[in-house]
Amino acid sequence: MPVHSAPSVAMRAVLLASAVVIGLGATVAQNPQPMPGYGAASAAAQRRIESDAIAVPSPTNAAEYARALSREPHMSGTPAQARTRDYVIERMRSWGLETEVRAYEVWMPHPTSVRVWRVAPDARELTLAEGPVPGDSTSSMPEVPPVNGYGGSGDVTAEVVYVNYGLIEDYATLDSLGVSVRGKVAIARYGRSFRGIKAREAERHGAVALLIYSDPQDDGFVRGDVYPVGPMRPPQGIQRGSVFNGTGDPTTPGTPSRPGAKRIPLAQSGVAKIPVVPISYGNAGELLRDMRGTPIPQPWQGGLPFRYHIGPGPVSARVAVATDTATAPYKTIWNTFGIIRGTEFPDEMVLIGGHRDAWGPGAGDNVSGTVSVLEAARAVAELAKRGVRPKRTMVFATWDAEEWGLVGSTEYVEDDSLRLLRGAVAYLNQDVSAQGPSFGGGGSPSLRATLRAIARTIDDPSGKGTVYDVWRRASSVADSVEPPMGDPGGGSDFAGFYNHLGIPHSDWGFGGGGGVYHSAYDSRHWMETFGDPGYRYHAAAARVGAAMMLRLANADVLPYDYVEYARTMRRYVPAVDQAITSRKWGTSSSALSASIDHMERSARAFNATRDSALARTLPAPTRRSANAALLRVERALTRPEGLKTRSWYRNLIYAADENNGYANIVFPSVNEAIRAGDATLAQREVDDLARRFDAAASALDDAARALTGSGK
Ligand SMILES: [Zn+2]
Repeated sequence: MPVHSAPSVAMRAVLLASAVVIGLGATVAQNPQPMPGYGAASAAAQRRIESDAIAVPSPTNAAEYARALSREPHMSGTPAQARTRDYVIERMRSWGLETEVRAYEVWMPHPTSVRVWRVAPDARELTLAEGPVPGDSTSSMPEVPPVNGYGGSGDVTAEVVYVNYGLIEDYATLDSLGVSVRGKVAIARYGRSFRGIKAREAERHGAVALLIYSDPQDDGFVRGDVYPVGPMRPPQGIQRGSVFNGTGDPTTPGTPSRPGAKRIPLAQSGVAKIPVVPISYGNAGELLRDMRGTPIPQPWQGGLPFRYHIGPGPVSARVAVATDTATAPYKTIWNTFGIIRGTEFPDEMVLIGGHRDAWGPGAGDNVSGTVSVLEAARAVAELAKRGVRPKRTMVFATWDAEEWGLVGSTEYVEDDSLRLLRGAVAYLNQDVSAQGPSFGGGGSPSLRATLRAIARTIDDPSGKGTVYDVWRRASSVADSVEPPMGDPGGGSDFAGFYNHLGIPHSDWGFGGGGGVYHSAYDSRHWMETFGDPGYRYHAAAARVGAAMMLRLANADVLPYDYVEYARTMRRYVPAVDQAITSRKWGTSSSALSASIDHMERSARAFNATRDSALARTLPAPTRRSANAALLRVERALTRPEGLKTRSWYRNLIYAADENNGYANIVFPSVNEAIRAGDATLAQREVDDLARRFDAAASALDDAARALTGSGK
């Protein structure tokens, strides 16, 4: 258990300097635990540095930045989004950071008109706007249209068919019931997959348009009181969001969208051709209530107060979407960077980032993450002003157009891939980092121990111990087991760094219940009433960010935990075995098990070597060459040609499931080959992955040799 001490001098100065009482602990937890990657003297210095840094982020500052950034809807490609760019740059400059803005020209048609009518049995146009609610000032500003980014345009009228969640298995059920969506308007509820999969499947099955709505059973009054009385989605609330299944600008896969970039024809880009429109459950009720025809399987019943039917009809709908594709399809997007150069290893970089664009005012998604990045930057900048500079370069980034398909971060990664491959130590992502009290974290297994260690040093805003303590108790696991963490699949800006380049990644945030995701009501009023009323969790997320950045930037030897990594990998092997056995193939996964054992042995040996080497002072060149070898470990688990199904995904450990989009697939090269029923390919992929684990083990051996001076 961490020991709580009296406030440090720096902390007291901060408390005195600010007029408000900082609700978040007046104590700074000390970390009595060993600090992997640090020698004794540097560990002591580092504890002081981290404790000074985590004293800086404050709810007062977080509130100021959050209010400024959530004062208006700021969809990518709009003047409002240029204002958030200027705000972030101006803040970072004022703290003394070097700043940079990088612009890209991306294909991103905006809707100019989105309309939906019920045309039969009786005709009326649906009111798509979410509209003002009392007490929420931004809800009376002009709304971002109800848009599914990268949906098609058109004007179609047809009978309606209810397709449940619109998943592959739902269409199989429709087939078995003899119902086709060909030529129809499909209506699907949100949930159980990324919405892009719903659009892809509707189009594949011949629908002429797709409406996606939030069912109250999954996201509405069945879950709790609705906004503005409670935090849940009200009947008029809409979940906007992209339906593009790829990553980055759809017209420049694998290359940055700099002016004059070579672009692929739209037909090859994978964007939806049919109009796709998100609607509220209020409007969905107008269509679903009078549906008849095929009865539903019982699990298809949702939370609206009538019996659901599949149709087709007798309800018909007209869906009309117009965009600026013909006139102004390209928009300028802007990523921002705040940089502090490293004193000792300036070419090694630790990056933290969060997306700056939103579908509305975006208080949770993602003003909260942007504020976390800003406050972490301010904390480190304060130290730098006092002459405490990081050994490695730190980069504090905000990304544009994440909401359209991770566009800003992806274009950046494709632009700077060589520098990142060579020098990026870690990428930390902040997406919805504070909208409730429940801490969660995830990322590469190599960084999980570091995140747990940092969570032990920061007081939880609840006053009930450290962030780690509260997290542990909430996850109700046995004493000997750590709280579970999420694996990196898809769905946020880490994808370019982790899934494309193999850069170790970590993320965290404080979550809670709510129903304003991608709605006009993801607003300051919602946040200050329900999400994080005192901005204390915003500040706590930033403390974690500042400490993570410093821990990774100052380590003598990079603190990756490849023992935990290898052990995590081993847990995935039995499922591979089972899948092979159940197919009665002659394929064997034994090479995989052996190579993971090999990696764990090398990781253990490396840790022992590192810990004894750190007992003495290591010259910088020794540390540099050990760290260079460590950077190769996870890069070795990528392959340049990527997955067979998706070449952009080079990381062979985790990927987004191509049939779900949010869910994660482990060992994707192997498991996709098994799923495809290709025994020969599965064996080849097992052997290929095993060779890469062996290469990762060799990189660990090289790192150990670098430390003992018996390098090649
Ligand atoms: Zn987000």
